[in-house]
Amino acid sequence: MRKILAAGNWKMNNTPSQAAAMINELKEKTKGCKNDVLICPTFVCLPDAIKAAEGSNIKIGAQNMHFEDKGAFTGEVSAAMLKELGVEYVIIGHSERREYFAETDDTVNAKIIQALKYDLIPVVCCGESLKQREDGITFDFIRSQIKIAFRGISKEDAVKIVVAYEPIWAIGTGKVATTEQAQEVCAAIRACIGEIYDEATAAAIRIQYGGSVNAGNAAELFTQADIDGGLVGGASLKADFGKIVNYK
Ligand code: PEP
Repeated sequence: MRKILAAGNWKMNNTPSQAAAMINELKEKTKGCKNDVLICPTFVCLPDAIKAAEGSNIKIGAQNMHFEDKGAFTGEVSAAMLKELGVEYVIIGHSERREYFAETDDTVNAKIIQALKYDLIPVVCCGESLKQREDGITFDFIRSQIKIAFRGISKEDAVKIVVAYEPIWAIGTGKVATTEQAQEVCAAIRACIGEIYDEATAAAIRIQYGGSVNAGNAAELFTQADIDGGLVGGASLKADFGKIVNYK
């Protein structure tokens, strides 16, 4: 049985003290919560966030990492650094990183392999642009993203990965995908994973929806057959995130 993962991507918001205060508030709201809860603050907030989350069911993740072990990569952070802090998850290939920081399907694949090597759980983002959807190539495009993302990854490692389907046109726009749109793409992602590995692997992998999720639409989205929670941006910065996490 796959467990729902409600994840907050805070993007470039919150200072370390603000992060700690927000997690302390969320802690109260997640007491007894049956779902997995994940917060991904910026790198500099990670130590305070991890400390604040102690003794709760809130997991902490990073928003990015480099694919090399170490070296001359100014401004970058390695998997080993995250692991030593106590980080458990890492978002990889968010569309904002692909758009503004030149990440490609190949670097996404290299980062996933590196994250798994350090026992970090990758939350791998994929999703089409509005133009790709209008051109009718959504499924082909996402299948290609998934095939490259999982290249060279064993079945045993693949089941640890979380995939986040995030249509780019729905991120931060308030224009959420319809339940049918979100479900059909998540089902197609699962089918693609089944083709790469097998049915059992496809059935085990968690697939989230992301893109303008809020307290009003989370329950309907998260109860779809192939949707195992959400990656939430804007609404994860609000008190409402507590409602999303306890969506039922
Ligand atoms: C995101 O950044 O991953 C995201 C889904 O943002 P929002 O919820 O604000 O659309």
